[in-house]
Amino acid sequence: MKRLLLTPGPTPIPPDVLGAMGEPIIHHRTAEYKEIFKEANDNLHKVFKTQNDIFTFTSSGTGAMEASVVNICSPGDKVIVVRGGKFGERFSDISKFYGVEAIPLDIEWGTAPDPSAVEVLLKAKKKVKAVYMSLCETATATAYDVKAIAKVVAQTDAVLVVDAISGLAADELKTDEWGVDIVVAGSQKGLMLPPGLSFCSVSKKAWGLVESARCPRFYLCFKGMKKALDKGDTPFTPAITLVIGLRESLKIILADGLDKFMARNKTLADATRKAVKDLGLELFSKRPSDAVTAAKVPDGLDGEALIKDLRKKHGVWFAGGQAALKGKIFRIAHMGSIRPSDMREGFAALEDILKAMGHKFEPGSGLKELKKL
Ligand SMILES: *Cc1c(COP(=O)(O)O)cnc(C)c1O
Repeated sequence: MKRLLLTPGPTPIPPDVLGAMGEPIIHHRTAEYKEIFKEANDNLHKVFKTQNDIFTFTSSGTGAMEASVVNICSPGDKVIVVRGGKFGERFSDISKFYGVEAIPLDIEWGTAPDPSAVEVLLKAKKKVKAVYMSLCETATATAYDVKAIAKVVAQTDAVLVVDAISGLAADELKTDEWGVDIVVAGSQKGLMLPPGLSFCSVSKKAWGLVESARCPRFYLCFKGMKKALDKGDTPFTPAITLVIGLRESLKIILADGLDKFMARNKTLADATRKAVKDLGLELFSKRPSDAVTAAKVPDGLDGEALIKDLRKKHGVWFAGGQAALKGKIFRIAHMGSIRPSDMREGFAALEDILKAMGHKFEPGSGLKELKKL
């Protein structure tokens, strides 16, 4: 059966990107590869909206999250971690693993952190090295107010680290204008690639911490990455095929400018949220992301069965809830190359399954808004 992937990573890969990655492999220590890497890297700066160096790791997104800890922290350091979902929690797991004290800013799942709560915590705790947060907390489909929190953090010695793995190119992020010190990203979400690449952009302020940071690191070392990047290279064999794909996917994202790409994405996000409500379902997030939408499973329905039936009967892949949200929500991605026609197909299938499960709604109501696109 065909498969319609509407999961918040991996996301569907455009045919041109697949085609580019299907070409015979080339060697990386060549002018040919360096040119490809340079073009991809230059365009990546436009998507990150930064002049800072961007390092490209061969790893899933978590590799870059780990890099953003080990390169600026030492055992015994204090950091603040916003925890409102599984991915926020991962930053505190990584920190603790390296002996870094992760001071949690715990928020109710589905809500976004209050910038003044970050300010209060920064004032109360002395000598905080960094604040870790997400742009989009994918577990709850919630966009955090990076701009406001960046303003708070900028007034202190702490650096701000933002996990934009799912949010990049979907939720607004102005790295330099807002003063975000480290932006972490990954390949398999809004960048429309297979998993396997991750990225860190690093500001001057963050660089100030690198020299004295004593957490162990070898593969993920910023200094090694910087030395190689200045020569248009990476220290170790890059994921050549994925970088070739990245060059292609960034061409697509920037074809009409990033703003247009993101505006189309927002239109689809808005229509998806409306479609969820029109089906008599509730949105889970109080501050919804434009990368992914989370809907509450109606009382009395089996959320895990819903996801399974969508896959089995229609080949439509939504993601379920994680941890405490298992069976309680389902998540639909609208980032990257996902089109209105994909969403219509997804919602036609959703209506079919909801009807079979006994949920009451007006047939076609979920599709009404999406048909306007
Ligand atoms: C997907 C995701 C990750 C995890 O990345 P991996 O590629 O699975 O290592 C981290 N943070 C956020 C916000 C994500 O959406």
